Amino acid sequence: MAILPPGVSAESFASAIREFQDAVGRDWVFTSDDDLYSYRDHFSYIKDQPNELIPSAAVGPDTTEQVQAVVRTANKYKIPLYAISTGKNFAYGGPSPNVRGSVTVDLKRMNRILVCDDKRHFALVEPGVSYIDLYRHIQQNKLNVWVDTPDPGWGSLIGNAMDHGIGYTMGFYRDHFGAHTGMEVVLPNGEVMRTGMGAMPASQSWQEYRHGYGPDPCGLFGQGNFGIVTKMGFRLMPAPEHWRNGLVTVPKREDLIPLIEAVNYLCDLSMCGEPWYGSPLMGLMGNTEFRDAAMSFNESAMDRLAASAKLHSWQVELQFYGSERTTLANWEYAKEIVARKVPGARFTDGESLKTPLTREQIASTTGPYPTNMRRNITQGVPGLGIWYMTGRTENNPNAWNETHIGLFSLIGRSGEAVLKAQKDFADVARKLEMPSLFPNALQTPVNWYQFAFLMGNGFGLGRGDNSPAGKLAATAKLREVLRENAALGYGDYRAPPILQDDVADQYSFNDFVLRRFTEQLKDAIDPNGIISPGRAGIWPAPFRSMRGGMRS
Ligand SMILES: Cc1cc2nc3c(=O)[nH]c(=O)nc-3n(C[C@H](O)[C@H](O)[C@H](O)COP(=O)(O)OP(=O)(O)OC[C@H]3O[C@@H](n4cnc5c(N)ncnc54)[C@H](O)[C@@H]3O)c2cc1C
Repeated sequence: MAILPPGVSAESFASAIREFQDAVGRDWVFTSDDDLYSYRDHFSYIKDQPNELIPSAAVGPDTTEQVQAVVRTANKYKIPLYAISTGKNFAYGGPSPNVRGSVTVDLKRMNRILVCDDKRHFALVEPGVSYIDLYRHIQQNKLNVWVDTPDPGWGSLIGNAMDHGIGYTMGFYRDHFGAHTGMEVVLPNGEVMRTGMGAMPASQSWQEYRHGYGPDPCGLFGQGNFGIVTKMGFRLMPAPEHWRNGLVTVPKREDLIPLIEAVNYLCDLSMCGEPWYGSPLMGLMGNTEFRDAAMSFNESAMDRLAASAKLHSWQVELQFYGSERTTLANWEYAKEIVARKVPGARFTDGESLKTPLTREQIASTTGPYPTNMRRNITQGVPGLGIWYMTGRTENNPNAWNETHIGLFSLIGRSGEAVLKAQKDFADVARKLEMPSLFPNALQTPVNWYQFAFLMGNGFGLGRGDNSPAGKLAATAKLREVLRENAALGYGDYRAPPILQDDVADQYSFNDFVLRRFTEQLKDAIDPNGIISPGRAGIWPAPFRSMRGGMRS
Protein backbone atom coordinates (compact mmCIF):
# COMPACT_ATOMS: atom_id res chain seq x y z
CA MET A 1 0.00 0.00 0.00
CA ALA A 2 1.94 3.00 -1.24
CA ILE A 3 1.20 6.10 0.79
CA LEU A 4 2.48 9.56 -0.05
CA PRO A 5 3.08 12.44 2.35
CA PRO A 6 0.16 14.88 2.13
CA GLY A 7 0.45 17.30 -0.80
CA VAL A 8 3.63 15.67 -2.18
CA SER A 9 3.62 14.21 -5.70
CA ALA A 10 4.94 10.74 -6.47
CA GLU A 11 7.83 12.27 -8.47
CA SER A 12 8.88 14.62 -5.67
CA PHE A 13 8.62 11.79 -3.18
CA ALA A 14 10.84 9.56 -5.34
CA SER A 15 13.45 12.36 -5.54
CA ALA A 16 13.27 12.84 -1.78
CA ILE A 17 13.76 9.11 -1.19
CA ARG A 18 16.91 9.22 -3.38
CA GLU A 19 18.23 12.12 -1.30
CA PHE A 20 17.43 10.31 1.93
CA GLN A 21 19.36 7.29 0.58
CA ASP A 22 22.33 9.51 -0.26
CA ALA A 23 22.24 10.87 3.27
CA VAL A 24 21.92 7.66 5.31
CA GLY A 25 22.77 4.84 2.88
CA ARG A 26 20.41 2.77 0.70
CA ASP A 27 20.04 0.05 3.33
CA TRP A 28 18.61 2.52 5.84
CA VAL A 29 15.66 3.88 3.88
CA PHE A 30 12.54 1.73 4.16
CA THR A 31 9.53 1.92 1.86
CA SER A 32 8.12 -1.60 1.52
CA ASP A 33 4.96 -2.65 3.37
CA ASP A 34 6.95 -5.36 5.14
CA ASP A 35 9.53 -2.90 6.42
CA LEU A 36 6.93 -0.33 7.40
CA TYR A 37 4.93 -2.91 9.33
CA SER A 38 7.09 -2.29 12.39
CA TYR A 39 6.31 1.45 12.27
CA ARG A 40 2.59 0.89 12.80
CA ASP A 41 0.76 1.07 16.10
CA HIS A 42 -0.48 -2.45 16.56
CA PHE A 43 -2.60 -1.43 19.56
CA SER A 44 -4.33 1.27 17.58
CA TYR A 45 -8.10 1.65 17.66
CA ILE A 46 -7.92 2.49 13.93
CA LYS A 47 -5.57 -0.28 12.82
CA ASP A 48 -6.26 -1.30 9.20
CA GLN A 49 -8.70 1.59 8.78
CA PRO A 50 -8.27 4.09 5.91
CA ASN A 51 -7.15 6.79 8.36
CA GLU A 52 -4.60 4.60 10.20
CA LEU A 53 -1.51 6.68 10.98
CA ILE A 54 1.03 4.90 8.78
CA PRO A 55 4.28 6.45 7.54
CA SER A 56 5.13 6.64 3.84
CA ALA A 57 8.76 5.68 4.53
CA ALA A 58 11.29 5.42 7.33
CA VAL A 59 14.91 6.54 7.41
CA GLY A 60 17.56 5.41 9.87
CA PRO A 61 20.35 7.97 10.31
CA ASP A 62 23.49 7.01 12.20
CA THR A 63 24.87 10.45 13.07
CA THR A 64 23.69 13.95 13.91
CA GLU A 65 25.00 15.11 10.50
CA GLN A 66 22.78 12.53 8.79
CA VAL A 67 19.78 13.76 10.77
CA GLN A 68 20.59 17.27 9.56
CA ALA A 69 20.69 16.08 5.96
CA VAL A 70 17.33 14.34 6.36
CA VAL A 71 15.77 17.50 7.82
CA ARG A 72 17.13 19.63 4.94
CA THR A 73 15.66 17.26 2.35
CA ALA A 74 12.31 17.24 4.17
CA ASN A 75 12.27 21.04 4.04
CA LYS A 76 13.07 21.03 0.34
CA TYR A 77 10.12 18.72 -0.48
CA LYS A 78 7.88 19.87 2.43
CA ILE A 79 7.63 16.34 3.80
CA PRO A 80 6.51 15.92 7.42
CA LEU A 81 8.98 13.93 9.53
CA TYR A 82 8.20 12.01 12.70
CA ALA A 83 11.19 11.24 14.96
CA ILE A 84 11.23 8.19 17.20
CA SER A 85 14.04 6.96 19.42
CA THR A 86 13.26 3.29 20.04
CA GLY A 87 9.64 3.68 18.90
CA LYS A 88 8.15 1.58 21.70
CA ASN A 89 5.60 4.12 22.87
CA PHE A 90 2.86 1.52 23.03
CA ALA A 91 -0.38 2.62 24.69
CA TYR A 92 0.48 6.11 23.43
CA GLY A 93 0.57 5.41 19.71
CA GLY A 94 3.70 3.23 19.48
CA PRO A 95 5.89 4.52 16.63
CA SER A 96 2.99 5.93 14.60
CA PRO A 97 3.05 9.58 13.50
CA ASN A 98 0.36 12.25 13.89
CA VAL A 99 0.07 12.72 10.12
CA ARG A 100 -0.53 9.74 7.82
CA GLY A 101 2.22 9.62 5.20
CA SER A 102 4.93 11.25 7.35
CA VAL A 103 8.46 9.93 7.02
CA THR A 104 9.58 8.28 10.24
CA VAL A 105 13.06 9.23 11.40
CA ASP A 106 14.07 6.10 13.29
CA LEU A 107 16.99 6.93 15.59
CA LYS A 108 17.62 3.38 16.89
CA ARG A 109 20.91 3.18 15.04
CA MET A 110 22.26 6.08 17.07
CA ASN A 111 22.76 3.99 20.18
CA ARG A 112 26.02 5.17 21.71
CA ILE A 113 26.46 5.68 25.43
CA LEU A 114 28.74 8.72 25.30
CA VAL A 115 29.33 9.21 29.02
CA CYS A 116 28.23 7.28 32.09
CA ASP A 117 29.85 8.92 35.09
CA ASP A 118 29.41 7.18 38.43
CA LYS A 119 31.23 9.88 40.41
CA ARG A 120 29.21 12.82 39.13
CA HIS A 121 26.09 10.67 38.55
CA PHE A 122 24.96 11.33 35.00
CA ALA A 123 24.89 9.75 31.56
CA LEU A 124 24.95 11.34 28.11
CA VAL A 125 23.31 9.11 25.52
CA GLU A 126 22.04 8.97 21.95
CA PRO A 127 18.36 8.30 21.18
CA GLY A 128 18.74 4.59 20.41
CA VAL A 129 20.10 3.74 23.88
CA SER A 130 17.47 1.70 25.72
CA TYR A 131 17.14 1.29 29.47
CA ILE A 132 18.32 -2.29 29.03
CA ASP A 133 21.41 -1.08 27.08
CA LEU A 134 22.36 1.40 29.79
CA TYR A 135 21.70 -1.12 32.57
CA ARG A 136 23.96 -3.68 30.83
CA HIS A 137 26.66 -1.06 30.35
CA ILE A 138 26.50 -0.20 34.05
CA GLN A 139 26.70 -3.90 35.03
CA GLN A 140 29.51 -4.75 32.61
CA ASN A 141 31.60 -1.81 33.76
CA LYS A 142 30.69 -2.27 37.43
CA LEU A 143 29.57 1.33 37.70
CA ASN A 144 28.12 2.61 40.92
CA VAL A 145 24.87 4.09 39.55
CA TRP A 146 21.28 3.01 38.92
CA VAL A 147 19.02 3.95 36.06
CA ASP A 148 15.39 4.81 36.81
CA THR A 149 13.43 2.70 34.32
CA PRO A 150 9.77 2.69 33.24
CA ASP A 151 7.95 -0.64 33.30
CA PRO A 152 8.98 -1.76 29.80
CA GLY A 153 12.80 -1.66 29.71
CA TRP A 154 13.13 -1.84 25.91
CA GLY A 155 12.21 1.87 25.55
CA SER A 156 14.85 4.56 25.39
CA LEU A 157 15.92 7.20 27.88
CA ILE A 158 15.39 9.91 25.27
CA GLY A 159 12.11 8.65 23.73
CA ASN A 160 10.56 8.06 27.13
CA ALA A 161 11.64 11.46 28.43
CA MET A 162 10.40 13.11 25.23
CA ASP A 163 6.92 11.88 26.07
CA HIS A 164 7.26 12.88 29.74
CA GLY A 165 7.59 9.27 30.88
CA ILE A 166 7.98 8.15 34.46
CA GLY A 167 9.75 5.53 36.59
CA TYR A 168 9.80 4.02 40.06
CA THR A 169 12.75 4.97 42.31
CA MET A 170 13.21 8.27 44.18
CA GLY A 171 10.96 11.21 43.22
CA PHE A 172 13.65 13.26 41.56
CA TYR A 173 14.67 10.49 39.13
CA ARG A 174 11.12 9.27 38.42
CA ASP A 175 10.25 12.35 36.34
CA HIS A 176 12.41 11.41 33.35
CA PHE A 177 12.18 14.71 31.52
CA GLY A 178 12.64 16.56 34.83
CA ALA A 179 15.85 14.57 35.44
CA HIS A 180 17.44 15.50 32.11
CA THR A 181 20.67 17.46 32.10
CA GLY A 182 20.79 19.15 28.72
CA MET A 183 20.33 18.17 25.10
CA GLU A 184 21.58 18.44 21.54
CA VAL A 185 18.83 19.13 19.00
CA VAL A 186 18.63 19.31 15.22
CA LEU A 187 16.35 22.28 14.62
CA PRO A 188 13.70 22.40 11.88
CA ASN A 189 16.11 24.34 9.60
CA GLY A 190 18.77 21.63 9.97
CA GLU A 191 21.06 23.51 12.38
CA VAL A 192 22.37 21.80 15.53
CA MET A 193 21.79 23.48 18.89
CA ARG A 194 23.03 22.49 22.34
CA THR A 195 21.19 23.65 25.43
CA GLY A 196 22.39 24.75 28.88
CA MET A 197 26.15 24.70 29.42
CA GLY A 198 26.40 22.75 26.15
CA ALA A 199 25.95 26.08 24.35
CA MET A 200 29.52 26.92 25.46
CA PRO A 201 31.89 25.35 22.93
CA ALA A 202 34.51 24.46 25.58
CA SER A 203 32.06 23.63 28.37
CA GLN A 204 33.33 21.38 31.16
CA SER A 205 29.93 21.02 32.80
CA TRP A 206 27.25 20.44 30.13
CA GLN A 207 25.49 17.79 32.20
CA GLU A 208 25.75 19.64 35.48
CA TYR A 209 23.88 22.87 35.00
CA ARG A 210 21.09 22.44 32.54
CA HIS A 211 19.83 26.02 32.58
CA GLY A 212 23.01 27.64 31.20
CA TYR A 213 22.31 31.33 30.80
CA GLY A 214 19.12 33.01 29.63
CA PRO A 215 15.82 31.31 28.80
CA ASP A 216 15.98 27.53 28.83
CA PRO A 217 14.14 26.24 25.70
CA CYS A 218 14.34 22.54 26.67
CA GLY A 219 10.68 22.35 27.65
CA LEU A 220 9.70 23.00 24.04
CA PHE A 221 11.22 19.70 22.93
CA GLY A 222 9.44 17.47 25.49
CA GLN A 223 6.05 16.50 23.99
CA GLY A 224 6.79 19.17 21.39
CA ASN A 225 7.69 19.39 17.74
CA PHE A 226 10.46 21.96 17.70
CA GLY A 227 13.39 19.70 16.80
CA ILE A 228 14.91 16.23 16.79
CA VAL A 229 16.95 15.42 19.88
CA THR A 230 20.20 13.66 19.03
CA LYS A 231 21.90 13.61 22.45
CA MET A 232 20.56 14.06 25.95
CA GLY A 233 21.96 13.84 29.45
CA PHE A 234 20.24 12.28 32.45
CA ARG A 235 20.94 12.42 36.16
CA LEU A 236 21.54 8.92 37.55
CA MET A 237 20.90 7.73 41.07
CA PRO A 238 24.04 6.70 42.99
CA ALA A 239 23.74 2.99 43.74
CA PRO A 240 22.76 2.58 47.38
CA GLU A 241 24.18 -0.29 49.44
CA HIS A 242 20.85 -1.46 50.69
CA TRP A 243 17.14 -1.47 49.87
CA ARG A 244 14.18 -2.36 51.98
CA ASN A 245 10.44 -2.01 51.72
CA GLY A 246 7.55 -2.04 54.14
CA LEU A 247 3.78 -2.16 53.97
CA VAL A 248 1.47 0.26 55.76
CA THR A 249 -2.22 -0.58 56.06
CA VAL A 250 -5.06 1.55 57.39
CA PRO A 251 -8.50 0.25 58.34
CA LYS A 252 -10.99 2.85 57.11
CA ARG A 253 -11.67 4.52 53.79
CA GLU A 254 -11.28 8.00 55.22
CA ASP A 255 -7.91 7.04 56.77
CA LEU A 256 -6.56 7.63 53.29
CA ILE A 257 -6.56 11.37 54.02
CA PRO A 258 -4.05 11.36 56.90
CA LEU A 259 -2.15 8.45 55.30
CA ILE A 260 -1.41 10.44 52.15
CA GLU A 261 -0.48 13.49 54.20
CA ALA A 262 2.09 11.43 56.13
CA VAL A 263 3.49 9.75 53.01
CA ASN A 264 3.72 13.06 51.11
CA TYR A 265 5.78 14.38 54.02
CA LEU A 266 8.17 11.43 53.88
CA CYS A 267 8.47 11.52 50.07
CA ASP A 268 9.08 15.24 49.88
CA LEU A 269 11.80 14.94 52.51
CA SER A 270 13.37 12.29 50.21
CA MET A 271 13.09 9.73 53.01
CA CYS A 272 11.41 7.14 50.81
CA GLY A 273 11.00 6.22 47.15
CA GLU A 274 7.82 5.66 45.20
CA PRO A 275 4.80 4.95 47.40
CA TRP A 276 2.64 2.26 45.81
CA TYR A 277 -0.98 2.62 46.91
CA GLY A 278 -3.56 -0.12 46.73
CA SER A 279 -6.66 -1.59 48.27
CA PRO A 280 -7.48 -5.26 48.88
CA LEU A 281 -11.22 -4.57 48.85
CA MET A 282 -11.54 -5.60 45.21
CA GLY A 283 -11.52 -9.12 46.63
CA LEU A 284 -14.89 -8.41 48.27
CA MET A 285 -16.68 -7.52 45.05
CA GLY A 286 -18.15 -11.03 44.87
CA ASN A 287 -20.14 -10.16 48.02
CA THR A 288 -23.39 -8.50 46.88
CA GLU A 289 -23.73 -6.37 50.01
CA PHE A 290 -20.19 -5.05 49.62
CA ARG A 291 -20.61 -4.52 45.90
CA ASP A 292 -23.74 -2.41 46.52
CA ALA A 293 -21.88 -0.39 49.17
CA ALA A 294 -18.93 0.21 46.82
CA MET A 295 -21.09 1.16 43.87
CA SER A 296 -23.06 3.66 45.97
CA PHE A 297 -20.02 4.99 47.88
CA ASN A 298 -21.55 4.00 51.21
CA GLU A 299 -18.37 4.60 53.20
CA SER A 300 -19.58 3.36 56.59
CA ALA A 301 -21.02 0.16 55.09
CA MET A 302 -17.74 -0.45 53.23
CA ASP A 303 -15.79 0.07 56.47
CA ARG A 304 -18.06 -2.31 58.39
CA LEU A 305 -17.90 -5.05 55.74
CA ALA A 306 -14.13 -4.66 55.34
CA ALA A 307 -13.70 -5.02 59.12
CA SER A 308 -15.87 -8.13 59.26
CA ALA A 309 -13.85 -9.64 56.40
CA LYS A 310 -10.68 -8.70 58.38
CA LEU A 311 -9.45 -6.55 55.50
CA HIS A 312 -7.95 -3.09 55.59
CA SER A 313 -9.28 -0.35 53.28
CA TRP A 314 -5.98 1.01 51.98
CA GLN A 315 -2.35 0.06 51.84
CA VAL A 316 0.84 1.68 50.69
CA GLU A 317 4.16 0.03 50.02
CA LEU A 318 7.19 2.21 50.75
CA GLN A 319 10.76 1.83 49.46
CA PHE A 320 13.90 2.89 51.31
CA TYR A 321 17.41 3.35 49.94
CA GLY A 322 20.69 3.79 51.82
CA SER A 323 22.66 1.55 54.17
CA GLU A 324 21.09 -1.29 56.15
CA ARG A 325 21.08 0.98 59.20
CA THR A 326 19.70 4.12 57.54
CA THR A 327 16.97 2.24 55.64
CA LEU A 328 15.86 0.70 58.92
CA ALA A 329 15.95 4.09 60.64
CA ASN A 330 13.87 5.62 57.81
CA TRP A 331 11.34 2.79 57.96
CA GLU A 332 11.07 3.21 61.73
CA TYR A 333 10.64 6.95 61.27
CA ALA A 334 7.98 6.35 58.60
CA LYS A 335 6.08 4.16 61.06
CA GLU A 336 6.29 6.92 63.66
CA ILE A 337 5.05 9.63 61.27
CA VAL A 338 2.17 7.51 59.95
CA ALA A 339 1.17 6.26 63.43
CA ARG A 340 0.95 9.83 64.69
CA LYS A 341 -1.52 10.70 61.95
CA VAL A 342 -3.43 7.41 61.58
CA PRO A 343 -3.94 5.72 64.95
CA GLY A 344 -5.24 2.46 63.42
CA ALA A 345 -2.31 2.02 61.01
CA ARG A 346 -0.46 -1.30 60.96
CA PHE A 347 3.03 -1.96 59.65
CA THR A 348 4.54 -5.05 58.08
CA ASP A 349 8.25 -5.30 57.41
CA GLY A 350 8.97 -6.21 53.80
CA GLU A 351 12.23 -7.36 52.32
CA SER A 352 15.62 -6.04 53.42
CA LEU A 353 18.25 -6.69 50.78
CA LYS A 354 21.87 -5.87 50.09
CA THR A 355 22.15 -4.36 46.62
CA PRO A 356 22.66 -4.92 43.75
CA LEU A 357 20.22 -7.80 43.41
CA THR A 358 21.75 -11.08 42.34
CA ARG A 359 20.68 -12.69 39.06
CA GLU A 360 18.73 -15.28 41.07
CA GLN A 361 16.90 -12.56 42.99
CA ILE A 362 16.06 -10.71 39.79
CA ALA A 363 14.68 -13.87 38.20
CA SER A 364 12.88 -15.24 41.24
CA THR A 365 9.17 -14.85 41.85
CA THR A 366 8.83 -14.52 45.58
CA GLY A 367 5.12 -13.95 45.63
CA PRO A 368 2.13 -13.05 43.55
CA TYR A 369 2.35 -10.16 41.11
CA PRO A 370 3.74 -7.61 41.47
CA THR A 371 6.20 -8.63 44.18
CA ASN A 372 9.33 -9.42 42.21
CA MET A 373 8.55 -7.09 39.31
CA ARG A 374 8.18 -4.18 41.67
CA ARG A 375 11.30 -5.18 43.59
CA ASN A 376 13.28 -5.13 40.35
CA ILE A 377 11.86 -1.92 39.01
CA THR A 378 12.22 -0.01 42.26
CA GLN A 379 15.90 -1.00 42.08
CA GLY A 380 16.44 0.19 38.54
CA VAL A 381 16.43 -3.26 36.92
CA PRO A 382 14.67 -2.97 33.54
CA GLY A 383 12.53 -5.80 32.18
CA LEU A 384 9.54 -6.60 30.03
CA GLY A 385 7.46 -8.46 32.61
CA ILE A 386 4.70 -5.85 32.42
CA TRP A 387 3.71 -7.21 29.03
CA TYR A 388 1.89 -9.96 30.90
CA MET A 389 -0.85 -7.32 31.08
CA THR A 390 -1.25 -6.45 27.46
CA GLY A 391 0.70 -8.95 25.43
CA ARG A 392 -1.56 -11.27 23.47
CA THR A 393 0.44 -14.40 22.95
CA GLU A 394 -0.39 -17.98 22.13
CA ASN A 395 -0.08 -18.74 25.83
CA ASN A 396 -2.14 -15.75 26.85
CA PRO A 397 -4.73 -15.23 24.12
CA ASN A 398 -7.12 -13.27 26.32
CA ALA A 399 -4.75 -10.62 27.66
CA TRP A 400 -6.71 -7.40 27.71
CA ASN A 401 -8.05 -6.69 24.24
CA GLU A 402 -6.67 -5.99 20.81
CA THR A 403 -6.42 -2.30 21.44
CA HIS A 404 -4.76 -0.44 24.22
CA ILE A 405 -4.69 3.24 25.07
CA GLY A 406 -3.10 4.65 28.18
CA LEU A 407 -4.83 7.70 29.56
CA PHE A 408 -4.01 8.81 33.06
CA SER A 409 -6.08 11.60 34.55
CA LEU A 410 -4.15 13.69 37.02
CA ILE A 411 -5.60 14.28 40.45
CA GLY A 412 -4.45 16.22 43.49
CA ARG A 413 -1.98 14.49 45.83
CA SER A 414 -4.33 14.30 48.81
CA GLY A 415 -6.78 11.80 50.23
CA GLU A 416 -9.63 14.28 49.82
CA ALA A 417 -8.78 14.65 46.13
CA VAL A 418 -8.62 10.87 45.61
CA LEU A 419 -11.95 10.22 47.32
CA LYS A 420 -13.56 13.08 45.38
CA ALA A 421 -12.07 11.88 42.07
CA GLN A 422 -13.44 8.39 42.68
CA LYS A 423 -16.93 9.86 42.97
CA ASP A 424 -16.44 12.28 40.06
CA PHE A 425 -15.26 9.53 37.72
CA ALA A 426 -18.14 7.30 38.82
CA ASP A 427 -20.53 10.13 37.92
CA VAL A 428 -18.87 10.53 34.52
CA ALA A 429 -19.11 6.78 33.87
CA ARG A 430 -22.78 6.79 34.86
CA LYS A 431 -23.56 9.85 32.77
CA LEU A 432 -21.89 8.36 29.71
CA GLU A 433 -23.38 4.92 30.37
CA MET A 434 -19.98 3.35 30.41
CA PRO A 435 -18.78 0.10 31.88
CA SER A 436 -16.07 0.35 34.48
CA LEU A 437 -13.15 -2.02 34.75
CA PHE A 438 -12.59 -1.03 38.36
CA PRO A 439 -15.52 -0.25 40.61
CA ASN A 440 -14.75 3.43 40.95
CA ALA A 441 -14.81 3.38 44.73
CA LEU A 442 -11.90 0.93 44.62
CA GLN A 443 -9.78 2.45 41.88
CA THR A 444 -6.43 3.33 43.48
CA PRO A 445 -4.19 6.20 42.51
CA VAL A 446 -0.91 5.61 40.77
CA ASN A 447 1.78 7.79 42.24
CA TRP A 448 4.83 8.66 40.21
CA TYR A 449 5.62 12.19 41.19
CA GLN A 450 1.94 13.13 40.95
CA PHE A 451 -1.26 11.14 41.44
CA ALA A 452 -3.20 9.73 38.51
CA PHE A 453 -6.08 7.34 37.85
CA LEU A 454 -5.99 4.94 34.94
CA MET A 455 -8.58 5.88 32.33
CA GLY A 456 -8.57 4.67 28.75
CA ASN A 457 -9.03 0.97 28.59
CA GLY A 458 -9.35 1.14 32.32
CA PHE A 459 -13.00 1.81 31.68
CA GLY A 460 -13.22 -1.46 29.84
CA LEU A 461 -13.90 0.34 26.60
CA GLY A 462 -13.61 -1.73 23.48
CA ARG A 463 -13.39 -4.91 25.52
CA GLY A 464 -15.10 -7.73 23.79
CA ASP A 465 -15.97 -5.69 20.71
CA ASN A 466 -12.94 -5.54 18.49
CA SER A 467 -14.91 -4.80 15.33
CA PRO A 468 -13.98 -1.52 13.58
CA ALA A 469 -17.35 -0.07 14.67
CA GLY A 470 -16.78 -1.17 18.28
CA LYS A 471 -13.34 0.44 18.33
CA LEU A 472 -14.67 3.63 16.79
CA ALA A 473 -17.42 3.79 19.41
CA ALA A 474 -14.86 3.21 22.18
CA THR A 475 -12.66 6.03 20.87
CA ALA A 476 -15.65 8.38 20.68
CA LYS A 477 -16.45 7.51 24.30
CA LEU A 478 -12.89 8.28 25.35
CA ARG A 479 -13.26 11.71 23.77
CA GLU A 480 -16.39 12.30 25.83
CA VAL A 481 -14.57 11.16 28.96
CA LEU A 482 -11.79 13.66 28.28
CA ARG A 483 -14.32 16.47 27.86
CA GLU A 484 -16.28 15.57 30.99
CA ASN A 485 -13.08 15.18 33.03
CA ALA A 486 -11.78 18.54 31.83
CA ALA A 487 -15.01 20.21 32.94
CA LEU A 488 -14.33 18.79 36.41
CA GLY A 489 -10.71 19.98 36.34
CA TYR A 490 -8.96 16.68 35.57
CA GLY A 491 -6.43 16.81 32.74
CA ASP A 492 -4.36 14.08 31.11
CA TYR A 493 -0.60 14.10 30.81
CA ARG A 494 -0.08 11.99 27.72
CA ALA A 495 -2.05 10.51 24.83
CA PRO A 496 -1.70 8.64 21.53
CA PRO A 497 -1.85 10.74 18.34
CA ILE A 498 -5.52 9.91 17.75
CA LEU A 499 -6.42 11.65 21.03
CA GLN A 500 -3.76 14.36 21.28
CA ASP A 501 -6.02 17.13 19.97
CA ASP A 502 -8.63 16.11 22.51
CA VAL A 503 -6.17 16.25 25.40
CA ALA A 504 -4.75 19.55 24.15
CA ASP A 505 -8.33 20.88 24.15
CA GLN A 506 -8.43 20.33 27.92
CA TYR A 507 -5.79 23.03 28.33
CA SER A 508 -7.99 25.92 27.26
CA PHE A 509 -7.26 28.61 29.88
CA ASN A 510 -7.66 32.15 28.52
CA ASP A 511 -8.93 31.18 25.11
CA PHE A 512 -6.21 28.60 24.47
CA VAL A 513 -3.40 31.07 24.98
CA LEU A 514 -0.92 28.25 25.64
CA ARG A 515 -1.67 26.67 22.27
CA ARG A 516 -1.66 30.02 20.48
CA PHE A 517 1.75 30.74 22.03
CA THR A 518 3.33 27.41 21.01
CA GLU A 519 1.84 27.59 17.50
CA GLN A 520 3.18 31.12 17.04
CA LEU A 521 6.62 29.80 17.97
CA LYS A 522 6.16 26.75 15.75
CA ASP A 523 5.33 28.89 12.72
CA ALA A 524 8.40 31.05 13.32
CA ILE A 525 10.82 28.18 13.93
CA ASP A 526 9.41 25.62 11.49
CA PRO A 527 7.69 27.55 8.67
CA ASN A 528 7.24 24.42 6.53
CA GLY A 529 5.87 22.60 9.57
CA ILE A 530 8.00 19.52 8.85
CA ILE A 531 8.82 18.35 12.38
CA SER A 532 6.04 16.13 13.77
CA PRO A 533 3.10 18.35 12.81
CA GLY A 534 0.17 17.89 15.17
CA ARG A 535 2.20 16.46 18.04
CA ALA A 536 0.58 17.39 21.37
CA GLY A 537 -2.04 19.36 19.42
CA ILE A 538 0.54 21.83 18.04
CA TRP A 539 -0.31 22.26 14.35
CA PRO A 540 1.95 24.40 12.15
CA ALA A 541 0.28 26.70 9.61
CA PRO A 542 0.74 24.41 6.55
CA PHE A 543 -1.02 21.54 8.37
CA ARG A 544 -3.36 23.47 10.68
CA SER A 545 -6.50 22.47 8.82
CA MET A 546 -5.79 18.91 10.00
CA ARG A 547 -6.54 19.82 13.63
CA GLY A 548 -9.26 17.54 14.96
CA GLY A 549 -9.06 15.41 11.80
CA MET A 550 -8.82 12.20 13.79
CA ARG A 551 -12.29 12.86 15.21
CA SER A 552 -14.05 12.34 11.91
C1 LIG B 1 1.94 -2.17 29.72
C2 LIG B 1 2.63 -0.86 29.54
C3 LIG B 1 3.32 -0.29 30.60
C4 LIG B 1 3.95 0.94 30.45
N1 LIG B 1 4.61 1.48 31.53
C5 LIG B 1 5.18 2.69 31.41
C6 LIG B 1 5.87 3.27 32.52
O1 LIG B 1 6.00 2.69 33.58
N2 LIG B 1 6.38 4.53 32.36
C7 LIG B 1 6.29 5.20 31.17
O2 LIG B 1 6.79 6.32 31.08
N3 LIG B 1 5.69 4.64 30.11
C8 LIG B 1 5.14 3.42 30.19
N4 LIG B 1 4.54 2.86 29.09
C9 LIG B 1 4.51 3.62 27.82
C10 LIG B 1 5.71 3.34 26.87
O3 LIG B 1 5.82 1.97 26.62
C11 LIG B 1 7.04 3.85 27.41
O4 LIG B 1 6.95 5.19 27.82
C12 LIG B 1 8.19 3.75 26.38
O5 LIG B 1 9.43 3.99 27.04
C13 LIG B 1 8.07 4.77 25.25
O6 LIG B 1 8.71 4.27 24.14
P1 LIG B 1 10.17 4.75 23.67
O7 LIG B 1 11.01 4.93 24.88
O8 LIG B 1 10.63 3.79 22.64
O9 LIG B 1 9.89 6.19 23.07
P2 LIG B 1 9.67 6.55 21.52
O10 LIG B 1 8.52 5.77 21.00
O11 LIG B 1 10.95 6.45 20.79
O12 LIG B 1 9.32 8.09 21.67
C14 LIG B 1 8.11 8.55 22.20
C15 LIG B 1 7.72 9.82 21.45
O13 LIG B 1 8.62 10.89 21.77
C16 LIG B 1 8.97 11.65 20.60
N5 LIG B 1 10.40 11.45 20.35
C17 LIG B 1 11.09 10.32 20.53
N6 LIG B 1 12.39 10.50 20.26
C18 LIG B 1 12.53 11.78 19.88
C19 LIG B 1 13.65 12.54 19.51
N7 LIG B 1 14.86 12.02 19.50
N8 LIG B 1 13.45 13.84 19.19
C20 LIG B 1 12.20 14.39 19.23
N9 LIG B 1 11.11 13.69 19.60
C21 LIG B 1 11.27 12.40 19.92
C22 LIG B 1 8.11 11.09 19.47
O14 LIG B 1 6.94 11.86 19.37
C23 LIG B 1 7.81 9.69 19.93
O15 LIG B 1 6.59 9.17 19.42
C24 LIG B 1 3.91 1.62 29.20
C25 LIG B 1 3.23 1.02 28.13
C26 LIG B 1 2.59 -0.20 28.29
C27 LIG B 1 1.89 -0.79 27.12
